[in-house]
Amino acid sequence: MSDKKPVKMSDADLKFFEEMLVEKRRQLVTAQSESERANAFQGQKSQSGDGGDSDSADSATDYNTLETTFSLAAREGKYLVYLEEALQRIRNGTFGICKVCKQLIPKARLLAVPTATKCVNCKEETKKKEQENNRMEMARLFAEAQRKEMQKRAAGH
Ligand SMILES: [Zn+2]
Repeated sequence: MSDKKPVKMSDADLKFFEEMLVEKRRQLVTAQSESERANAFQGQKSQSGDGGDSDSADSATDYNTLETTFSLAAREGKYLVYLEEALQRIRNGTFGICKVCKQLIPKARLLAVPTATKCVNCKEETKKKEQENNRMEMARLFAEAQRKEMQKRAAGH
């Protein structure tokens, strides 16, 4: 008896994660537009800035906040792309399916990392392979450098 169902998350789960992703995106976009507003505000300040303002202490505080918001925005910009991609996968029904082994990613993992595209096993496998590739690439570069060094020495004599 083989009753192979196509691997897919239940509609209820998809709906749940869609709401979660949309909410995360909303928070990100709000944070980003706030940092843009802060930026515009800062621009105005520096144009009119010939000193003597009573609120210079305030603007120093603004600037510190701005810097924090900016580094956050840079980091979160990429996350926003991941969120969009995850939402796209919800729409085409591939959300929550490991892209390597095509099995469902455990819900606990998706709750922690809703943008995940691989199950933990496959992620570990990919990481190991990448590390292995890196090691081989390093060995190759090292061998090549050695070979060049030997050629140089041979040419020198
Ligand atoms: Zn997998």
